[in-house]
Amino acid sequence: MECPYCRDEMDKGVIQSAREIFWSINEKKVFFIADVSNGDVSIAPFGWNGSKAEAYLCNNCKKVIIDF
Ligand SMILES: [Zn+2]
Repeated sequence: MECPYCRDEMDKGVIQSAREIFWSINEKKVFFIADVSNGDVSIAPFGWNGSKAEAYLCNNCKKVIIDF
């Protein structure tokens, strides 16, 4: 994948966690799973081996791009 900022080729890899990975508009104090009814977006649901999502990294721009 080409980086949309600098146009260099990005490195393909994975983002991993022991728990679900999700995006929230506000930081939470206590959380374990995404609250989709309040706008959270699950990026990688929890499974037997934790959670993982394919991700592309640009070391020039310090950016990671993840599909959800
Ligand atoms: Zn870049």
